[in-house]
Amino acid sequence: MNESVVRALYGKATSLNLSSKKINYVPTCVSRLPELSVLLLNNNSITALPAELLSLHHLVELNLGNNALKEVPAVLGHLESLKKLYLFRNQITAVPPDVIDGLQHLVVLNLNHNQIQRLPPEIKSLSRLRHLSVLDNKLEEVPVELGHLTSLTEINFTSNNLSSLPQQLYQCKELIKLHVARNKLSSLPEGVRALTKLQVLDVAGNKLSMFPVEFHVLRLKELYYEGNRFVRCDPMSSAQDVEVLTLKELTARFVLREDRNRSSLVHRMLPHYPLLTALLANGSCCSLCLEPFLTTWLECVHFISLKKDMQMRISQTIPVRALICSYKCFNTDGHSYYGVATR
Ligand SMILES: [Zn+2]
Repeated sequence: MNESVVRALYGKATSLNLSSKKINYVPTCVSRLPELSVLLLNNNSITALPAELLSLHHLVELNLGNNALKEVPAVLGHLESLKKLYLFRNQITAVPPDVIDGLQHLVVLNLNHNQIQRLPPEIKSLSRLRHLSVLDNKLEEVPVELGHLTSLTEINFTSNNLSSLPQQLYQCKELIKLHVARNKLSSLPEGVRALTKLQVLDVAGNKLSMFPVEFHVLRLKELYYEGNRFVRCDPMSSAQDVEVLTLKELTARFVLREDRNRSSLVHRMLPHYPLLTALLANGSCCSLCLEPFLTTWLECVHFISLKKDMQMRISQTIPVRALICSYKCFNTDGHSYYGVATR
């Protein structure tokens, strides 16, 4: 190892490869290479980094994969030029907020094969991040601040313990690949059509019963969904009593309908009632009559052909959630929506 460092010191090296050298510490003289832009330390037994490394102001890529780190080293928070950081296959349990806060130029963050349970809200500092990979960890939830990472093109949360994803995920509009296989997801958040650039989605090995509303408008190239609990195409009796709507629901429908008319008094007044606006934002539109409504109490589904409706190469159908305003609509003939007995 010393030979490599000495050679680098004399040559004013911009890259230093100390991978697979059986070292358990990083020699402090590495900090005397201020021009260093790439430092490879992977496949060793390193347990900590010396504080002296903070002088590496030009370090762009740091590979610490396959070592014995138990935490993301504090000194990394001072490496403000860092763009690619690899920390896979360590024993990391925590991602300290102050370290993340200092890594604002990061483009690639790989934390695969560790023991991380949560990502801190400070992750929102990583506004330039394009690839985030936390495969095979112990994540139980994803912070809503993920929605601030609007440069993300690839997210990999495969093999964690996630039971839900935040709706803010859909603010990451540049997303091309989303891998969330082998978690405990029982549903995907509504609003998925916002991911207009999504090409690859892997949700295999979860507990999904259907895909969210308008899923079929996505232009996917690859979809992996085996090993879920999807509803099957079993028609349910549509002989339902006509419901009596609550006053709240009736009023909401009236206001939502009026709000569509730009010249109406309701449309002009609504911005002055922020609480009401927030409540009505949960409203939906009936797939059959296209009229607005607030509360969904009839879970409906339609079966989408991957080949015909989504132009994919698989000839199978998937259940996609559909919203219907009333039994009156549901009981009309000539549609292909099915009720789902979920409650
Ligand atoms: Zn309707």
